[in-house]
Amino acid sequence: MSNLTKNVLWAVITLIVISLLFSLFVAPASQPATISLSKLASDIAAGQVKEVKVSGSQLNIVMTDGSAATSQTESGTNITDTLKNLGVTSQELQAVNLQVVNQSGWSYWLSLLIVPILELLGIGFIFWFMFRQARSGANQAFTFGRSNLKLSSFKDRILFKDVAGLKEAKEELIEVVDFLKNPKKFLDLGARIPRGILLMGPPGTGKTLVARAIAGESNVPFFFISASEFVEMFVGVGASRTRDAFMTAKRSAPAILFIDEIDAVGRQRGAGMGGGNDEREQTLNQILVEMDGFDRDTRVIVLAATNRPDVLDPALLRPGRFDRRIILDLPDMNDREAILKIHAQGKVVDANVDFRRVAQRTPGFSGADLANLMNEAAIAAARHGQKTVTQADLLEAAEKVIMGPERRSRVISAHEKEITAYHEGGHALVAASLKDADPVQKVSIIARGFAGGYTMKLPNEDVHLKTRAQFMADLAMMMGGYASEKLTFGDISTGASNDLKEASDLARKLVTRYGMSELGPITFGKTEDMIFLGREITTDKNYSEKVAGEIDEQVKKFLTHAYEVAERVLKSHKTALKKIADTLIEKETLEQDEFNAVLKPFKIKPMVA
Ligand code: ADP
Ligand code: MG
Ligand code: ZN
Repeated sequence: MSNLTKNVLWAVITLIVISLLFSLFVAPASQPATISLSKLASDIAAGQVKEVKVSGSQLNIVMTDGSAATSQTESGTNITDTLKNLGVTSQELQAVNLQVVNQSGWSYWLSLLIVPILELLGIGFIFWFMFRQARSGANQAFTFGRSNLKLSSFKDRILFKDVAGLKEAKEELIEVVDFLKNPKKFLDLGARIPRGILLMGPPGTGKTLVARAIAGESNVPFFFISASEFVEMFVGVGASRTRDAFMTAKRSAPAILFIDEIDAVGRQRGAGMGGGNDEREQTLNQILVEMDGFDRDTRVIVLAATNRPDVLDPALLRPGRFDRRIILDLPDMNDREAILKIHAQGKVVDANVDFRRVAQRTPGFSGADLANLMNEAAIAAARHGQKTVTQADLLEAAEKVIMGPERRSRVISAHEKEITAYHEGGHALVAASLKDADPVQKVSIIARGFAGGYTMKLPNEDVHLKTRAQFMADLAMMMGGYASEKLTFGDISTGASNDLKEASDLARKLVTRYGMSELGPITFGKTEDMIFLGREITTDKNYSEKVAGEIDEQVKKFLTHAYEVAERVLKSHKTALKKIADTLIEKETLEQDEFNAVLKPFKIKPMVA
């Protein structure tokens, strides 16, 4: 806004300067004396006046001695009568050269018009300033229909080496750039140059990053626009911006046009609720039209990215449009390690940091999460006044992202501490005693987020499939805390409630989705997942009340069995449980090797859940 005030100030100053100039221009430099009419009359009577020029109400007087004076009459009155009334005789008057100046000359009109003209100019000037202001400011309503197409700048150039993993995506994109550069060899064989490539994947998996890497690697012009920029407050703007964007790209062919977050306009038409869809639909239609308008050898490739391919309009996906789809998955363990290493560059990281171990602890993290983790670790290191970022900082940052920050300051009584120690000890011991359970990575009784303590167990390698036996071990391990409290204190605390909820949810899934119960190989309920977001949005109940009862029964069976397994483990290793709990009360946190060392003397033989 300071810009606007500045401009208005300028306008005002300019106006003042103009009016000053005007008054200088109109008023002569040396003013003749102004005299009254009676003085004029007496001067005439005394024969001192040579000439009187009357123009309107203004009297310009020249004396016999050559000096000038002015005077004023009422306009419209006869000057001769006025002077006679003031006692000038006819003879005296005849001695004076009395002229009435013709007032219809151009100078008269100019003098009449110049003030309003200047005023108009001034007002126009102010308006011009305000329009310019409105245009250049945040309100872009005046740039109707021009796309904000950016030719990617190579200031922070990103190359493939800055992108970890995503091997398939990179290969596919390299091939596409090859199409652009040497179309002849493809066209000669009758192949059609692909037009649209859709990058799909969960948020933060590097869609934008890989697109930028293509810009950095290929030497063709790369135009970047976010689909949300197409849509502004006026209907029709999006469509004309789309036209503009495609035209710009075509003009500099071979080129790549990248439309980020295309779901902002590419949503299935007619599917939205409420108003406000017209604009989006028109924009989408325009994109479709533009893509169809490509000639067989138009060397423009349209790259788009989305994390909601499920909501895209089918018309966008049909052959000839975005018919090439590249899926970017969440990184696996190797990729996580590589991503961590990329983001460790430029940070002072301790030489013996084991990135593999951090990668192990971060299943489900996206590239963006990992970049954030590295940064959090560096911040923590700086806060603690360290010289380097250590392994502990990294692991702590990972846990903070998953479970929330540690709450060391929470005061807990000795008794609560004991309950928590036995609870977590129960989880850990059950996990360690079952053949199919994942290894325990860490046990802690420091409150974190909403949890009073936690037992972290993660596979050493990425898993893509899980078996029934593994699920049974998971269920038993979830029951470990509950069973341990009951066994040790003969009572149960609220600390187990979250475990029970998770166990119940898992048991229900085993029955209704995985066909792992006695009800056999069948799924119940129609569930639609939001692709990539991993959230269930709707579940239609497509079974009878009787079946619902049976499902509940099976769920209960799983849970009871899990509890029995946990109880059996804990009962047969009572001394081990006590040892773990005591160590936890003393040390509060046990890392994987410390935990294993505590258990070693007991020589526990893993069993099947
Ligand atoms: P999106 O898929 O949501 O467009 P981005 O491409 O914007 O995700 O990624 C966000 C950030 O995450 C990137 O700027 C980068 O720092 C990091 N990142 C994501 N994937 C990778 C990767 N494969 N290699 C390196 N960094 C990555
Ligand atoms: Mg993105
Ligand atoms: Zn628990």
